Amino acid sequence: MVTRFAPAPTGYLHLGHVANAQLVWGEARARGGRVLLRIEDHDRERCTPEYEAALLEDLAWLGFAPDEPFVRQSERHDIYLRVANQLTREGLVYGCTCTRAEVQGSQGSRGPGVRGSGEVRYPGTCRGVGHALNHGVGWRVRLPSDEVRFDDRWCGPQVQVPAQQCGDLLIRDRLGNWTYQFVATVDDHLQGVTDVIRGRDLLDSTGRQILLGQMIGRTTPATFAHHALIMKSETQKLSKSDRDTGIRDLRAAGWTRERVLAISSTGLPTGPV
Ligand SMILES: [Zn+2]
Repeated sequence: MVTRFAPAPTGYLHLGHVANAQLVWGEARARGGRVLLRIEDHDRERCTPEYEAALLEDLAWLGFAPDEPFVRQSERHDIYLRVANQLTREGLVYGCTCTRAEVQGSQGSRGPGVRGSGEVRYPGTCRGVGHALNHGVGWRVRLPSDEVRFDDRWCGPQVQVPAQQCGDLLIRDRLGNWTYQFVATVDDHLQGVTDVIRGRDLLDSTGRQILLGQMIGRTTPATFAHHALIMKSETQKLSKSDRDTGIRDLRAAGWTRERVLAISSTGLPTGPV
């Protein structure tokens, strides 16, 4: 069993991360597995070395130690390029010049599989156009229209149709950043991650990651377990800007490690939605 903790250094660690870390390390320890730490700094515009240093320091203070040296996605460009080139050779990648606003404004872009998530489906505008994969052009993967079924360990049986939810997946944006969906899928495959334990805000991303995983050569998908999120209110997720739940601020206010761990482990149901 290999699982991972994969924070993005776009802000400070908060109680939601700690709750996730407790489940990740807890499951791994209970099942004799290993935990990988992956710094998801693929978005070069939003990630900073300061946030990364703070994140590593807070994790160490909390006692969460990975079983291998951590990896940074920003140092894995050659790996992502190799995988993307393989997909391109198979005729599965095409260039896309659409801006985010154009995709959001496109007619009928809302897929029937979207349940109030605000997710926008790419309608395939550039699919047959033949844009060269030059600088300034996004890279998209043609998704088959397959239905994806998986049994989430905590949310139960799921059926997703990624082609209807999100349409052809952007794997590299127009600025040259690899996208979350692509790098997470490549890394989970190449790092041998068998169990993905994460928050329910990513449940809708799972079908597309399973499908993309198959396309890049993964024969057996990971097992997924999506836990409830610690919420600020009934409708608002915790965010890195909520200073009251940031580990830095709790430490500065004199909280002990035990108190932080105790509060983040309460109220996190893992049963069916
Ligand atoms: Zn396009």
